[in-house]
Amino acid sequence: MSQPQPFEEIRYDKPAERVARITLARPEKHNGQTTRMLYEINDALDMAMDDDDVHVVVVAADGKNFSSGHDLNDRTKIGELRPPILGFGGYGHAGPQGHMAREQEIYLGFCWRWRNLPKPIIVQVQGKAIAGGLMLVWPFDIIIASDDAEFSDPVVAFGMNGHEFFVHAFEVGHRKAKQMLFTGEPIGAAEAKTLGMVNEVVPREELEAFTLAMAEKIASRPMIGLKTAKMSVNQSMDAQGMWNAIQSAFNLHQFGHANNRVIHGQMIDPAGLETIKREARASKERSGKS
Ligand code: ZN
Repeated sequence: MSQPQPFEEIRYDKPAERVARITLARPEKHNGQTTRMLYEINDALDMAMDDDDVHVVVVAADGKNFSSGHDLNDRTKIGELRPPILGFGGYGHAGPQGHMAREQEIYLGFCWRWRNLPKPIIVQVQGKAIAGGLMLVWPFDIIIASDDAEFSDPVVAFGMNGHEFFVHAFEVGHRKAKQMLFTGEPIGAAEAKTLGMVNEVVPREELEAFTLAMAEKIASRPMIGLKTAKMSVNQSMDAQGMWNAIQSAFNLHQFGHANNRVIHGQMIDPAGLETIKREARASKERSGKS
């Protein structure tokens, strides 16, 4: 069990009775996820789970964008900040072996752990959630989006199958999942709602209050009802093979990294970054945004 720690890259508060809130607090970096941030989120979720006065957790983010994904400049090694918690081992090994263990710990392992935590977790999303940004959205139970929210996973441009928590087909349907991955184009909030990926879409200025009101309503229910309802829905997804599918895709993801190491000398195809940036600029110009 994690011990409470002072947080540097998130905030933890209790904005209403029986509601805890975790806020990503690196807006100047578009809430790019460092190793530290992911451990802090994991610790904060543990605090909320261990607190019997908390029935519901809200995950929120400061700033214009929810999360730009993994911070590609983060060089923190697993074990450097604190002992690893999921026990995959081999974190210090060079090459694909060590990298796979790293991603098993802080990406796939954390996401699956968070998905199975007993209390309802609502995430409120504004602006962009890109690639790894979706790993702080999809593991949770209810998604409230502001009308400017956009969800994308453009990492096929990096010679990869998609980000590490591969539930795309479950979240948006198999055809849209392929379009999303093949083109790298974002799915807007309104479309995400029609796909069933987002629960509600609200104006940006109402996002916090709307989410909090829903959290308070849910928090008024008995914990055992909430816990067993969540388990029942999760188990219905498990019965459809969700976990097996995620693991298969994760293995292909590791193959992608290993292939890139051989071909490009690094984990991702470096040409992908320019492709993604160029298309993002073009899309901004098309929409007339500054
Ligand atoms: Zn990866």
